[in-house]
Amino acid sequence: MSGLDGESFRFTPLPKTPVKYKVFGGENKENSDPNRRNPRKILNDEVLKPLDPNRDDSDPNLRNPRKSFLKPLDLKLDEKFERICPPGGENRVVIYTTSLRGVRRTFEACNAVRAAVESLGVVVCERDVSMDRGFREELVSLMAKRVRDDGVAALPPRVFVKGMYIGGVEEVLRLVEDGSFGELIRGIPRKKADGACDGCGGLFFLPCFRCDGSCKMVKGWGSAAIVVRCSECNENGLVPCPICS
Ligand SMILES: [Zn+2]
Ligand SMILES: [Zn+2]
Repeated sequence: MSGLDGESFRFTPLPKTPVKYKVFGGENKENSDPNRRNPRKILNDEVLKPLDPNRDDSDPNLRNPRKSFLKPLDLKLDEKFERICPPGGENRVVIYTTSLRGVRRTFEACNAVRAAVESLGVVVCERDVSMDRGFREELVSLMAKRVRDDGVAALPPRVFVKGMYIGGVEEVLRLVEDGSFGELIRGIPRKKADGACDGCGGLFFLPCFRCDGSCKMVKGWGSAAIVVRCSECNENGLVPCPICS
């Protein structure tokens, strides 16, 4: 009952639809976002009603659209998504993309997803499948179950947050639009003001330090020397940026 102090509690005629204010009460405080604007300020003109023991908390019909913004973090949001964790993706946003323009729709979908997620100011780990076969194989294996169950394609863009599969372009744009994506990325490091990584300038890859990107290495000496494939880099002579990848 700590929420029922003088400031948040006024006796006023009861509204037709009970106003829920559980979010400001003590019971849910630990789940509320400390960075969220003070709900009392926003609700200043709202009518608050004392606790009604018969109140039905499960009623999802919120009359006022502003209330849906004030709902406590939808704890079920996490449960909506399947746990499929890309390597190293436990506490970050991982987006599989392509920079090949071959299929224009795919390329444009990747750009749209990247722009939408980056607009939220969060650090994004982008894995360009056209730059590294390893990422392509990673995506295929992550998506294997969904391909089998839902018939979705293992094509970029595919977005994962905190080890959950979120979806492709349609799902992600919708979640960014309705604010749910913002909830999902809570607690993930924010991007610095200047954005790009100091190591790679935001490209996530660097030319191989060992072969200078040629993918070739000379092995042996003199007449016994042979040229072998560099073992450090991928098929494009690139290595993941050691700072951001
Ligand atoms: Zn980097
Ligand atoms: Zn190399």
